[in-house]
Amino acid sequence: MSVIRSLRAREILDSRGHPTVEVELETDKGVKARASVPSGASTGRHEAHELRDGDPKRFGGRGVLKACQNVEGSLARALIGRKTGDGPAIDRHMIELDGTDQKERLGANAILAVSLACAKAGARERGWELFRYLREGLGCPMGAKSMILPAPLMNIINGGRHGANNLDIQEFMIVPHLKTSFRENLRACVEIFHELGKLLSMASLSTNVGDEGGFAPSLKNHEEALGLILKAIEKAGYRPGEDISLALDCAASEFYRDGRYVLEGRPLDSNEMIDYLESLSSRYPINSIEDGLAEDDHDGWKKMTTRLAQKVLLIGDDLFVTNPKILKKGIEEGEANAILIKPNQIGTLTETFRAMAFAFDHGYKAVVSHRSGETGESFIADLAVATACGRIKAGSASRSDRVEKYNRLLRIEEELGGEYSFILGRS
Ligand code: PGA
Ligand code: ZN
Repeated sequence: MSVIRSLRAREILDSRGHPTVEVELETDKGVKARASVPSGASTGRHEAHELRDGDPKRFGGRGVLKACQNVEGSLARALIGRKTGDGPAIDRHMIELDGTDQKERLGANAILAVSLACAKAGARERGWELFRYLREGLGCPMGAKSMILPAPLMNIINGGRHGANNLDIQEFMIVPHLKTSFRENLRACVEIFHELGKLLSMASLSTNVGDEGGFAPSLKNHEEALGLILKAIEKAGYRPGEDISLALDCAASEFYRDGRYVLEGRPLDSNEMIDYLESLSSRYPINSIEDGLAEDDHDGWKKMTTRLAQKVLLIGDDLFVTNPKILKKGIEEGEANAILIKPNQIGTLTETFRAMAFAFDHGYKAVVSHRSGETGESFIADLAVATACGRIKAGSASRSDRVEKYNRLLRIEEELGGEYSFILGRS
């Protein structure tokens, strides 16, 4: 097994034109691996720290030169000479070296980029595909024994912080469950996306896209968005509820003010917000709702879980921030029944695995996810396959930062031949 010979880092750009960290790792045997990290806009309060320079003269303060220096300085000094195959030990070492709860000192962006580059180098060294290395070489937790290609939760209407429109709910997604292949399920989503574009055009509504590549029109209300999506599903020749379900990411922390959810201009208390979500999910084929309530509204989460968890997947994103300790507490309290997995919320691959393992052990589902600010990095596609979690959130069918994840899954499906199943995402 080879050892790390050098670690280099550079500022590259993410899909919103903000700087982010890219790391290049080289081993003594000349194996090279490159990895970059994404960045969120509607971030949870308890996420690991994204280290930015704060120098107003560069990128409006968003530069990441300090994080890059940390990779080439402290992290390189600590890790050069270590075996690339020792990913978990390397992650542990970086966590200790940082020494803070939220990775404020070295930056979760610096640490995660190294963690991912190590895994990629480990895979390359063995000549294995990344998903296979994560599964068989790094022993990641698995939601199912057999290989599973994930169902895309494709975000075709963007609102909230991701669109310059009037929708408070951040993501309106379609979830296919045709009993065929990933390729065919992806095709269904893409066809619906294009039908939706035509419907918006015909209604003289904007077809500009938001940060995650979905359309971002201003509409009368959220139900108009759901109605348009149902129409697009039918026009594309699919049956809403049968072939294709709907999913929401409310990102409710973003419109939670002074104990009220300010939705479509009306302040709702927690119970009224749950009523609203219950009513939507009884009238539309919605089978999953992410961050339906705010990250601090723990009483509300408990009530919502009691009321809706039998029918709907209740996914905690800002609520759990991919953090095993926070997830443990949430599970004890009876909050949600699924976790969103964003490696940069926690900052190492090992801790990401730990959160997923804890979720699976307690009967919670896990949904692997991109961030609203992405690069061409497709690591999450491999992560979703390796863990057989069954669901991936990777944005819409436009913009290469989103589509690259789907394209990687197409390649993986081809690579696997008959060695996988495609389940689907009904509940
Ligand atoms: P973010 O949004 O990357 O801006 O946090 C994605 C999400 O909320 O799921
Ligand atoms: Zn979210």
